[in-house]
Amino acid sequence: MKKIQMVDLVSQTQKIQSTITDSWNKILQTGAFIGGDEVNAFSKELETFLGNSSQVIPCANGTDALQIALMALDLKPGDEVITADFTFAATVEVIHLLGLTSVLVDVDPETFLMDPKRLEAAITDKTKAIIPVHLFGQCAPMEEILHIAKKHDLFVIEDTAQAIGAEYTFTDGSAKKAGTMGTIGTTSFFPSKNLGCFGDGGAIFTGDDKLAHIIRGIANHGMYQRYYHDVVGVNSRLDALQASVLRAKLPLLPEYNKARQEAARVYSEGLSGVKELKTPSFAANSTHVFHQYTLQVLNGKRDELQAFLASKDIPAMIYYPVALRKQKAYDTGNYNDAEFPVTDDLITKVISLPMHTELDSEQQNYIIDNIKAFFHENN
Ligand SMILES: *Cc1c(COP(=O)(O)O)cnc(C)c1O
Repeated sequence: MKKIQMVDLVSQTQKIQSTITDSWNKILQTGAFIGGDEVNAFSKELETFLGNSSQVIPCANGTDALQIALMALDLKPGDEVITADFTFAATVEVIHLLGLTSVLVDVDPETFLMDPKRLEAAITDKTKAIIPVHLFGQCAPMEEILHIAKKHDLFVIEDTAQAIGAEYTFTDGSAKKAGTMGTIGTTSFFPSKNLGCFGDGGAIFTGDDKLAHIIRGIANHGMYQRYYHDVVGVNSRLDALQASVLRAKLPLLPEYNKARQEAARVYSEGLSGVKELKTPSFAANSTHVFHQYTLQVLNGKRDELQAFLASKDIPAMIYYPVALRKQKAYDTGNYNDAEFPVTDDLITKVISLPMHTELDSEQQNYIIDNIKAFFHENN
């Protein structure tokens, strides 16, 4: 059996390696390493993929994408930005970096996504923006979130780092891709994401031409005309070598996401009889592109399961072990634990299994059999 990895990037890369080395050889001959044709072509191709008249502004990573998005909205220190307590730290980090105030809210126990009721309850007259996170591969409840945002005149930045290619269907029947529903969408091309390059990369999406123009300038030193700096910007660029990797992979993204969905189906079917486990639930109106396959261990033996799997050479990860509001860097001291029952429960129960496009049935059966054996032994 092939060694099981949380994410198997080598096997996926081998299948497209010759396409990539061809385009890298061309780039080496042009000497256009930053920006240029490859980056422009990738941006256009991603715009077509996303639809909904999105403009794509590439940048250096998914964290920068979030930071630049917030910078483009011209928020003032003290303005409040609401996001989920259960997400990767980058989402809240950028709020603090810009001197804004983060307000974290609890999530839904079934889907791990921002709970619209908690969101609405957290809105004050200082609230300016909401960052829903499309966590683990499915869309946050955007119909409700957009409705609340409209009612309170708030910006919506969708953190799509884990859900590129997921689709959300509104009650009027229209379907939109993750990252194209709010004011701005952001994503990451970190190697292990569903669409990953061979280093760091990211992008910002918006359907608003004026905002797109502002964002392009901010990502390029606040420069709208060469060497005239109108606003304080940052240096955040995607390079040509990464863009060519992304151009090779973008046409395969639907296939990659299908492979993840199939792997998830095999896990859920194989583990359906294990009463100590809860397999992932599907969010209403969203497809699931399974950036992570996350189980909940209901009998308090999550850490023992992780150690047992490790002893069988099966990696498994805890995303995430600490609520963001309890992290030293982000604990504002303003939170009441009674408002976070779900996050505080999830951090003790969740465990994510190996999930990528190259899992084979021998590996998945081995993982499933070992999980079953563990719970059998612990009954
Ligand atoms: C990965 C990730 C980011 C940050 O992306 P980087 O490219 O690593 O900076 C932001 N938000 C979420 C939810 C992520 O998973």
